[in-house]
Amino acid sequence: MQKTLYALVELQEIDNRLDELKAERGDLPLIVEELENKYNQKKELLNEKNQALKDAKVKQKELELLIEEAKTKLSEFEEKLYQVKTNREYDAIMAETDSTKEKLETSEEELLTIHETIEKLEEEIKQLDEELEKIGAELEENRVELEKKLTATAEEENLLNHEREIIINKTDPEIIKTYELVRSARDGQGIARVENGVCGGCFSYIPPQKIVEVRKMEKIYTCEFCGRILVYIEE
Ligand SMILES: [Zn+2]
Repeated sequence: MQKTLYALVELQEIDNRLDELKAERGDLPLIVEELENKYNQKKELLNEKNQALKDAKVKQKELELLIEEAKTKLSEFEEKLYQVKTNREYDAIMAETDSTKEKLETSEEELLTIHETIEKLEEEIKQLDEELEKIGAELEENRVELEKKLTATAEEENLLNHEREIIINKTDPEIIKTYELVRSARDGQGIARVENGVCGGCFSYIPPQKIVEVRKMEKIYTCEFCGRILVYIEE
């Protein structure tokens, strides 16, 4: 058991250093992730707007064609009117003229709306392009910074993680579980040294009889206040 307890002390030291390295990276990983999300969202929106612009331009072409056709028809009808011989013919041409005029009017109104849509989309796309460029630059900057930090500590972290694994593999999983549970609940500290009659983690008083037991390092004792695994190490 002594071995296990010393292994836990070592594990705690490794975890402390790993936490330290993680803290050195600070908010950078989170900042990078948030910027990536923001960038992707804007990019998606830009794609949608570009598609909408393409559709609007197709519609614009269609309407322009319809208008041209209607205008051609109207001038044809006008020509025909000079050559009509009966009232019936006249009425028929007039009816067609009216309906074509109506269609022409509708198409022209639609074209006006499409023009407005296109203008609005083009403005939005321009703005999105600018925003994307800004976010992209910011993202790149933070990515480089994070990459630098990761590279600087990668070797040490790999070594620590390797040592960590060795300790975990040779230690009772139940004890590791207790250590991890307390660690996550107690600010990263799963074990505590008994010093000057108190728990080094929460500074609670520990009865002398228990200290004697802890000192033997023969059994796992936990602090009854904070739950940390207690160890006694002579300096
Ligand atoms: Zn305690």
